[in-house]
Amino acid sequence: MKKIFVTGGTGYIGSHTVVELQQSGFEVIIADNLCNSNIGVLDGIEQITGIRPAFEQIDLADEKQTRDFFSRHRDVEAVIHFAALKAVGESVQKPLEYYRNNLNSLMNVIGCMREYGIRNLVFSSSCTVYGQADVLPVTETTPRKQAESPYGNTKAMCEDIMRDVAKVEKGMNLLALRYFNPIGAHPSACIGELPNGVPNNLIPYLTQTVAGIREQLSVFGDDYNTPDGSAIRDYIDVVDLARAHVVAIRRLLEGKNKANYEYFNIGTGRGVSVLELIQAFERATGEKVNYRITGRRAGDIEKVWADTTLANTELGWKAVVPLEETLANAWRWQQHLGKMKK
Ligand code: NAD
Ligand code: UDP
Repeated sequence: MKKIFVTGGTGYIGSHTVVELQQSGFEVIIADNLCNSNIGVLDGIEQITGIRPAFEQIDLADEKQTRDFFSRHRDVEAVIHFAALKAVGESVQKPLEYYRNNLNSLMNVIGCMREYGIRNLVFSSSCTVYGQADVLPVTETTPRKQAESPYGNTKAMCEDIMRDVAKVEKGMNLLALRYFNPIGAHPSACIGELPNGVPNNLIPYLTQTVAGIREQLSVFGDDYNTPDGSAIRDYIDVVDLARAHVVAIRRLLEGKNKANYEYFNIGTGRGVSVLELIQAFERATGEKVNYRITGRRAGDIEKVWADTTLANTELGWKAVVPLEETLANAWRWQQHLGKMKK
């Protein structure tokens, strides 16, 4: 059984990916410092797959701890690096913490992979690297734009590090997945997103509003140049996204990659506005969303969605979960969280 090292594997996207990896016959070992997740996630993973993944609490931004981990796990065949700080607003307030954590962790991981002869890496990048693109949908050849936040900068810088390392480390295969907007939860409601405090992202804020934890959802702007005036994103189901990682890992392990640094858009290819998303949620769940239109949020772009042709053809991956099913899963997860708190 091939062993995959998943950093940030108790986090939102990491935990769903661990499930898909295990269900595809991979052995998983997780390292996470639990700064934005908790150990109970392992129970959720075990409930779904029947297998409890190995886990170590490690800060990957710490070189010594990271090297120690790699020196003890020489049988790892590939790494998926999710571990990062990801709150856009917080990154503006704490730029140093974001650069230190997100850049050092990637450099430590790649450095140790080189040292211990581990060749394959899949990295979590983001559509934030495109900023407000001039032409939509964005393809992988769409020029990257200066990011709006230190968080966004860390993703662009991490991609640059991977590109530059790949030029000289010909034996290494580095692959970045540019996620669009991941939403939803595992259909079992055993794992999902665990927002810390007041959520910044649309779906956790929306589900918490419907659950009565928040009073009202603010729709940030209805004066954008879009059909209904609200901003447009490409919302990708988290299980579809998790499956993309399994496909990417297989591509590297089977030597099917065409270059030793590659990057792919991972979205649905469909743009959905905030107001359309609210309507879809109401249809999917039968619940009413209490919302009001407020001003635009600083730093938000107007619209972005993916051209997923490259992922479809090269990776043989496609998003398949219908939006309403994704939203029903997000609501089921919110209800599950409510029950856990009681
Ligand atoms: P998350 O916060 O749920 O998961 C990240 C995990 O990494 C957490 O469990 C956290 O404890 C851990 N972590 C952070 N720094 C660490 C460190 N130094 N050492 C060890 N563990 C550390 O976030 P997520 O939504 O699952 O995101 C996973 C990855 O995907 C991140 O790199 C994020 O930037 C990227 N991404 C997320 C989104 C999104 O909307 N969720 C979009 C694009 C890209
Ligand atoms: N949004 C909103 N109200 C909220 C949170 C988000 O209207 O409480 C909008 C936001 O302006 C954007 C979309 O929902 O157009 C997705 O925002 P999110 O923060 O989830 O992801 P982003 O695209 O900013 O990474």
